[in-house]
Amino acid sequence: MRYISTRGQAEPRLFSDIILSPLAPDGGLYMPAYWPQIEAQTLAAFRDRPFAAVAAHIFSLFDNEMDEAAWRALCEKAYGHFNHPQVTPLRTLSEGLHLLELFHGPTLAFKDIALQILGPIIERKLHQRGERLCIIAATSGDTGAAAIKALAGREAVDLFILHPKGAISAIQRRMMSVCQAENVFNIAIDGSFDDCQSMVKAMFGDEVFSQELNLGAINSINWARIVAQMVYYFTSAVALGAPEKRLAYSVPTGNFGDVFAGAAAQKMGLPISMLAIASNENDILTRTLSSGAHRLEAVRKTLSPAMDIQISSNFERALFELSGRDGALVSRLMEDLSKTGQYHLSPEMLSSLRDTFFAHAVDDHATSAMMTQCLQEYDLLIDPHSAVGLVAAQKMRETGLVVDHLISLATAHPAKFPETVLKATGRKAPLPEAIKAIEDLPERLDVLPNDLDRVKKYIKARTRATKQ
Ligand SMILES: *Cc1c(COP(=O)(O)O)cnc(C)c1O
Repeated sequence: MRYISTRGQAEPRLFSDIILSPLAPDGGLYMPAYWPQIEAQTLAAFRDRPFAAVAAHIFSLFDNEMDEAAWRALCEKAYGHFNHPQVTPLRTLSEGLHLLELFHGPTLAFKDIALQILGPIIERKLHQRGERLCIIAATSGDTGAAAIKALAGREAVDLFILHPKGAISAIQRRMMSVCQAENVFNIAIDGSFDDCQSMVKAMFGDEVFSQELNLGAINSINWARIVAQMVYYFTSAVALGAPEKRLAYSVPTGNFGDVFAGAAAQKMGLPISMLAIASNENDILTRTLSSGAHRLEAVRKTLSPAMDIQISSNFERALFELSGRDGALVSRLMEDLSKTGQYHLSPEMLSSLRDTFFAHAVDDHATSAMMTQCLQEYDLLIDPHSAVGLVAAQKMRETGLVVDHLISLATAHPAKFPETVLKATGRKAPLPEAIKAIEDLPERLDVLPNDLDRVKKYIKARTRATKQ
């Protein structure tokens, strides 16, 4: 399999190249040159196989450098220590309505499913090349912890995580700062998440710094993350009777990575009738689907902070598909977006977007109300992101969509957002046993000012990364 850029101006690359350098030199995102097809018979056989086996099969379709048996070994290790034997179990709420629980990983959010496998993949590829990588990432909470859990103690990488000081929950901070591994550095920046993000972008944009330190990125545009996220669409669909049954999904959406993985599974032959893009008050994609105009607005703070995003990076991948893989057109749209803060879809693109996706924006009031309703009706605590998904699922059903099963993705454990859960339900969401220990461990982090040069010096003095 080769990978091509959504902007059409980069050399085709192999899986191992695009994992270590996920952004194409023309500014685009990598896409597989074709969609591997999974036949109905193979789909049906997934029904009796464990999560790791299905994951290995799907990864091997996207990376011909490693065979399925080698993938199986990596996947078994990655998914073997989740807090649930099925890794991503389904919970039936009522006839035909299910939650797909994606929060049984070590840091209690769905980011673990991709990062737990991305860690070993990166290490393996680096060993083959005899390189070390210096990974720098900004986090508003969930990604940082998942990346640390996935990369702590790995010889071939150093990991620097920037978070806005005081702007993440105590549990989110502890999940990162209790890590004592020598290759992990937590930096609390005296600034906002946007400040952290801009510094990371500036470091990647500094060619000398980036080459010298061999910088690597693990953000949500990394193709391996999308592949890992396809797996639970397949496992949940076959568990509910696909390919014979008709299914639709509702996906709490920020960067569009998770919901795009669903669209990819559909392209590969999984019969999904509709995918709901569930957003909070940051409703850019809902506005796009209703008007065809994709227009940036200021980011609003909501009860579901992991989705407080205006720039849904992976949406570029959907544009590429909608345009019939027209890289020149995607380039033009992305240029419009960066120059004018907006672009417009043609009537044809808008209509094919609506063939696959439904979109609904959920305000904080409706989010809280859904959390309360889940407690009353199902005796269940859910986190605010999962609540956004369920509200959109309900809306999608009200449009008259006829399916056998509606599956709403639960992207975080309620204990990760204790204050919001308590306020909506009057209940405290207890931390799972496996995580409780972090409450007593010593923390390790450094506080730095919002000053790019100081941060660069800090990183340069500590990284061991080299490129051969
Ligand atoms: C990251 C995240 C999302 C958004 O996922 P995208 O792939 O960025 O659309 C939703 N919910 C939670 C809890 C998250 O951490």
